[in-house]
Amino acid sequence: MPDDRIAPGTVWLVGAGPGDPELLTRKAERLIREASIVFYDALVGPEIVALIPPHVTRVYVGKRAGRHSKDQKSINDLLVEAALRGENVVRLKGGDPAIFGRATEEMQALAAHGIKVSICPGITAASAAAASLGISLTQRGAAQGLTFVTAHARAGGTLDIDWSRLADPNMTAAIYMGKASAGEVAAQLIAAGLPGSVPVAVVANASLPGELLLKTRLDLLAIAVKSIPDTGPAILLIGNAVADHHAGLKPQPSLQALRSPQAI
Ligand code: SAH
Repeated sequence: MPDDRIAPGTVWLVGAGPGDPELLTRKAERLIREASIVFYDALVGPEIVALIPPHVTRVYVGKRAGRHSKDQKSINDLLVEAALRGENVVRLKGGDPAIFGRATEEMQALAAHGIKVSICPGITAASAAAASLGISLTQRGAAQGLTFVTAHARAGGTLDIDWSRLADPNMTAAIYMGKASAGEVAAQLIAAGLPGSVPVAVVANASLPGELLLKTRLDLLAIAVKSIPDTGPAILLIGNAVADHHAGLKPQPSLQALRSPQAI
């Protein structure tokens, strides 16, 4: 049994899950309660922030798109300073800290100062989105595997993705940070050989009160995604596993589903 107590001068990177407080692990909840200071991101759901006890110092370290590298360094510095002061530090991150969560950068910065750091995993956005859609991301006969991809372009840059590897309808692609570049994602995948008819789901605010589900197809994604308001995070799921006939329960897409060009 690993030593998983929180102790002065140590840091826990804690996954907060997709937003619903009931999707927080019991361990995450305990660590939050035992912390003396909690640093949290924009993606940590408000009801989870509300679980931080009043005597615990809370520090919001949300980042804005395009300013990542500089801000990440300041976050690292804040974590190091708090641990060296002898605080019980929790670094609370949306979803799972090890999936597009900059966990390694923070762990390395802390380790460079000899600070003990551990990870408490969380439910990642792709899992929450699949649950809301009632699908299996690795549906037997429709998906041989699952790829986690980020489609976040660095300021002004293009997407650095190996499209040919993703252009397989029998592999599910879970595309994080991909709403803004959904049109480019679709165009590149089609250019790499993925049929335009491949099903796509977009889930915004998965597990949160403002959750939105949209089902469409790859060649309509650029248009369909425009109907999703710009409130909260959204994930794209692409591949045959997303097809309606694989759904284990009948999802109720909360936006008009666009399935064929005639539907527009
Ligand atoms: N570590 C997080 C991902 C951080 S990257 C995790 O494991 O989920 C941020 C991206 O995650 C967002 O741009 C979005 O694509 C996705 N995301 C996070 N929370 C989400 C939610 N509740 N609903 C839909 N997408 C979400």
